[in-house]
Amino acid sequence: MRKAWSILPEEWKPILAERGLRPFRADQILHSLYRDWIDDWDMATTLPRDFRETLKTEFPITKTETLDVSQSSDGTRKLLLGYEDGEAVETVLIPATGRFTQCISTQVGCAMGCAFCASGARGVVRSLTADEIVAEYMAGRRLGEITNIVVMGMGEPFMNYDETLRALRLVNAGKGPNLGARHITISTCGVVPGFARLADEGIQFELSVSLHAPNDALRSELMPVNRRWPIDELLDACADYTRRTKRIITFEYTVIRGVNDSRRCAEELASQVRRVPMAKVNLIPLSPVSHRPDFRTPDEATLMMFLDVLMKAHVQTMLRRSRGKDANAACGQLRLRRVEADGRGRQ
Ligand code: SAH
Repeated sequence: MRKAWSILPEEWKPILAERGLRPFRADQILHSLYRDWIDDWDMATTLPRDFRETLKTEFPITKTETLDVSQSSDGTRKLLLGYEDGEAVETVLIPATGRFTQCISTQVGCAMGCAFCASGARGVVRSLTADEIVAEYMAGRRLGEITNIVVMGMGEPFMNYDETLRALRLVNAGKGPNLGARHITISTCGVVPGFARLADEGIQFELSVSLHAPNDALRSELMPVNRRWPIDELLDACADYTRRTKRIITFEYTVIRGVNDSRRCAEELASQVRRVPMAKVNLIPLSPVSHRPDFRTPDEATLMMFLDVLMKAHVQTMLRRSRGKDANAACGQLRLRRVEADGRGRQ
């Protein structure tokens, strides 16, 4: 049994043939799934009834339940999606002029344990399967046409590489939802083996790397992943990636007051990212998280100083503001509030 939303468009024909089903049905199936956007085979009324029954047992469509919707005053909406086994993830919809961006999760919880991030505060429960990730997209697109996806929700995509890539390939597929690869951004905390694998894929997904500190001492303190793959190894992998793919890498740098916001840090950061061709930096002021009240948002003057140092060093830098704060939908805030609130099995 394979889930319908995990099958790539080109796989349908051989899979149907293997099961003694008629391959010409593939196009009808794709039409139902990705033009009529059905989420139940009973809705595929162009298909004969007995075939619909076969599809239900052989290729079920993943069921999710929207357990909660929170709306932020800036228009950002956060959905809590429950899967059949009772686990749940969050996905965030972010409207902007000419854009409707969806932030998706790849795991329930996260194993990486970054100090400032709520998603990892209780470890990882399990990884999502490709169809479960596609189900997030399907739930999002019911609220509007998604123009961009950022894989910046709960979980570390490179720790769930195969299922994440399968889901993104599916969303990107011409005979599927057909969302352009350049509109899909994968964000990693620096799981080094993922870089060469992604370069091998030959698809033009965008890549972001969460750096957050310019030296090993500080980075290892904030991000345990750095003990396994320190900055030199990480930046080498980034440089290889940009050389091979000719694609830009964006470094994310969450600015935390008194922790990584000094002039010295900015200078060190500039010299580190300049080792990577075609690198950009996104500065994101920390979103406060309840489990680390000692981590605070930097003040405006410090942010401006930090930005100025990078610009003067000719590093292409953007200052980003988190969206969805009042719905606990901002960067790093996903999941924990809810676990704290109900404290039960469903995380
Ligand atoms: N695991 C992936 C993707 C999920 S996190 C990664 O680490 O890149 C998406 C981004 O939000 C990362 O850059 C992460 O470091 C950042 N982030 C996490 N907690 C945050 C917080 N409290 N404030 C601001 N950004 C945060």
